[in-house]
Amino acid sequence: MPTKATASTSSLPDHSLNRFRAREFAAAGQAASGTVRLADWPRAAESVVDPAAEIAYRVEGGADASGRPRLLFALSGSVEVICQRCLHPMQWQLGGQTAVLLAANQRQLEAWDSEVEEAEVVLADQPLNLNELLEDEFLLGLPFAPMCDDPGCARRAGSEAQGADEIRIDTLPEDSSPFGALRGKLGSKQSN
Ligand SMILES: [Zn+2]
Repeated sequence: MPTKATASTSSLPDHSLNRFRAREFAAAGQAASGTVRLADWPRAAESVVDPAAEIAYRVEGGADASGRPRLLFALSGSVEVICQRCLHPMQWQLGGQTAVLLAANQRQLEAWDSEVEEAEVVLADQPLNLNELLEDEFLLGLPFAPMCDDPGCARRAGSEAQGADEIRIDTLPEDSSPFGALRGKLGSKQSN
C-alpha cells in the first residue's frame, strides 16, 4: 500500500493549483509533486470504480529541444476500472509521462499544434488550473476499453462474438410508455 505523502518542499499549496503560472514555472525549471484523491476530480471520479483512491503526480517545468516552454506530467498509482469484456473491476496501473507545451498566444498555439506531434499544446497566456490539467492527463491515460487478463474473460469474449444477436438494447418500445395507456383512456373519454 502506498503511504500517504507528507507535505514536502516541492508540493504546491492548494490555493495555487488553480492559479498556476505555468510559463513562469517552466522558465524557472521548477518541479512539483503531490497526491490527489480521485473523488476531488469530478470527471475522473466517474471513470473509476474507487473514487476514494489516491494517485501521485509530478509536474516538471522546462523546455523542449526547440526551446518551447514545456511541462512534463507523470501520474503514478493504480485505480480500479471496469473490464469492458466481463464487466468486472480490474486494476489499472498508471504510468508514463506526457508533455504539454505552453503557448503564449493563439498564433503560437496553432503553429505548435501543427508542428509538434509528440506533445499536447495548451494556451498559457494566463494562469492555468493545474488541477484540471492533471485531471485531463489522468483521463487521457485511462484505456478507452480496458480488458482484464482473466483467462475466463477472454473465453467469454470468444463465445460472445458468436452470439452477437444476444446484445440487449435498453430502450423501451414506444408502446410500453405509461403515456400510451393514458392517451388511450383520454381518447375514449373524449369520444363519449
Ligand atoms: Zn474481463
